[in-house]
Amino acid sequence: MTSDTLVKRNAPVALIVAAGSGTRAGGGIPKQYRRIGRETVIAHAFDALAAHPAIGAVHLVIGPGQDTLLAEALGDRVPASVTPGGATRRESVAAGLETIAAANNASAVLIHDAARPFLPAAVIDRLLDAVEGGAGAVPTLPVVDTLVRTDGTTLGDSVARDRLARVQTPQAFPFDTILAAHRAWSGPEEPTDDAQVARMAGMTVVAVPGDPMLEKLTHEADLAAAEARLAATLISRTAMGFDVHAFTDGDHVMLCGLRIPHSHALAGHSDADVGLHAITDALLGTIADGDIGSHFPPSDPRWRGADSGKFLEHAASLVAARGGIVDHVDLTIMCEAPKVGPHRDAMRQRVADLLKLPLSRVSVKATTTEKLGFTGRGEGMAAQAVATVRMPDA
Ligand code: MG
Repeated sequence: MTSDTLVKRNAPVALIVAAGSGTRAGGGIPKQYRRIGRETVIAHAFDALAAHPAIGAVHLVIGPGQDTLLAEALGDRVPASVTPGGATRRESVAAGLETIAAANNASAVLIHDAARPFLPAAVIDRLLDAVEGGAGAVPTLPVVDTLVRTDGTTLGDSVARDRLARVQTPQAFPFDTILAAHRAWSGPEEPTDDAQVARMAGMTVVAVPGDPMLEKLTHEADLAAAEARLAATLISRTAMGFDVHAFTDGDHVMLCGLRIPHSHALAGHSDADVGLHAITDALLGTIADGDIGSHFPPSDPRWRGADSGKFLEHAASLVAARGGIVDHVDLTIMCEAPKVGPHRDAMRQRVADLLKLPLSRVSVKATTTEKLGFTGRGEGMAAQAVATVRMPDA
């Protein structure tokens, strides 16, 4: 699979190595295809590299039989190439480099492990600056724990940590140099990263500051921690919705998706579900994306008599598309009649089902207006809603 449209000539490119089959992180599939938040691990890594303005193309190496997993994991993202990996990490990288070499357009390459999903742009900047001088460059972090030798049970001598560093990826190299180093590799021990291959070939590799966000995911707890780190970056948004419909002739009203017998119906172009309309507007408010009238104009015959559950589901899908998580919805219905109380729990359940939320996150309340105003006179119903969501700050 190739895509010329994503390839800038003679730009640095990225090679994501996703060939691992390790399932130590649980979930039954290799960790790079697991989900963190709304995206897979590899999609997070892909996006970080693809979004950087200096990176001209993102190439991938995957393991045998992972094509379907990859397609599902990437969604509509299009890599510049996908190369089958080899028996070892080194062979996988070498295969990916040969694919890039055949395209003949890379000045430098950032070789990145897919299992490091959170890649700050500042690290890419540092690597690209460092590699300009012709050396390789790797992100490193200082070692803060005391280090000792051990046979697995008894402690031996401690190891001075002031001259040690932890090495991360991506690792950046002038393309032709790292390609030649991989072609010349003769072992004997399998390298665990590309800096070792580069140094074996005589290349200088410099260290640039890494980032704790770049930690490699290995165990189940690492994925849970990554999920928590991602959640901590979300911001909370709260928005209101308000709606009114007048009574007209009829024998029932639609309220929160339920058909409730009444002496009148509510007038409206759709099914006039005043409760769902208020919640829909509250959700649209959290993403500052207009209101129910701008998404479903009353002038459009498609919405005549429409099930307002469709409006709510659409608003929820727009929130989800921006990475939003609906934390809570609270609705207040204002009318003298019909009585809401007997239907309250069924209404909550219907809204929870439409929003795919636990029942505990949906509140439905009702009040009369003490016979005051249009609701008090029984001329119509009003509803207001408050929605709280968390989403990436953008
Ligand atoms: Mg309405």
